[in-house]
Amino acid sequence: MSRGSGITIGIDIGGTKVLGIAIDANGEIVGQHRVPSEVATGGVEAAITTVFERLLNEVGVADAVGVGIAGLVDFEGRMRFGPNLADVLELSVRDQMEAATGLPVTVDNDANAAGYGELLFGALEGCRHALMVTLGTGIGGAIIVNGEVFRGANGFAAEIGHFTVRADGPLCACGERGHWEAIACGNALGRMGADAVADGDGAAIAAVAAGAPVTGHHVADAARLGDREALAIIDEFADNVALGLAGLANIFDPEAIAIAGGLVEMGDLLLEPVRAAFARHLEGLAHRPHIRIMPAALGERAGAMGAAAQARRVIRQPS
Ligand SMILES: [Zn+2]
Repeated sequence: MSRGSGITIGIDIGGTKVLGIAIDANGEIVGQHRVPSEVATGGVEAAITTVFERLLNEVGVADAVGVGIAGLVDFEGRMRFGPNLADVLELSVRDQMEAATGLPVTVDNDANAAGYGELLFGALEGCRHALMVTLGTGIGGAIIVNGEVFRGANGFAAEIGHFTVRADGPLCACGERGHWEAIACGNALGRMGADAVADGDGAAIAAVAAGAPVTGHHVADAARLGDREALAIIDEFADNVALGLAGLANIFDPEAIAIAGGLVEMGDLLLEPVRAAFARHLEGLAHRPHIRIMPAALGERAGAMGAAAQARRVIRQPS
């Protein structure tokens, strides 16, 4: 295959979709392909290969491939642990992809890749120290230190949903009690809404849910209609979100925090109370520069774009 095009391919592998994006040397998107989740049920490896081949057909040539995958990924590109991707556990994604494509391959955690994408092309552009926090079904994120994704000793850093903020809090999906994710992810907002309904306090939320199990979307919809109970739940939930953000900001002293994930669709309905609560929890607020909290800019493309950018580092020069 001819090299030197400067085009790299990034592939973002989540629990339900595989999205591939090709970027050129300027970071412009030159190709995009998504494999629907039903294809992914044929096996994650097959889905990755399908996305790669279709993208390569589209763009003609590529110099390297970057992969972002949901789970603990070590520096050898091996997927060590991922609760949503059982068939790739302990799989050497990098070696398999290099064998399948004949190209150099980088592999990182999907949230790290997304954080790198936001750093280069999105909301965190120009930052040297920043956080990206994904508020979705769970909480993920990336820590940017000195313009680089911070990966720790083994590549596993930035599992930011899993630190304890409330020792007697609810059980986390990981099995520990009181983790930030357990009180500040989308499922937590849904649970708070369901609890209110069960207590007889959530008439408007119950009306929006119309008999379906209460989710965070229902709480948000009721709040948009001006329901006081839903707004109070969102205030309490925003405080839970801010508790973790302020803890991380106290530790990492970021310039900015980009919020990604499904909950960011709530916009200022969520972000305004989060900013207010963040200010209450941050150490030394009056004596430090303002820390911006804003929505991420790239949406679901962040991971694939960041992975494609990470792949630039392993481009082999033509001999
Ligand atoms: Zn946990």
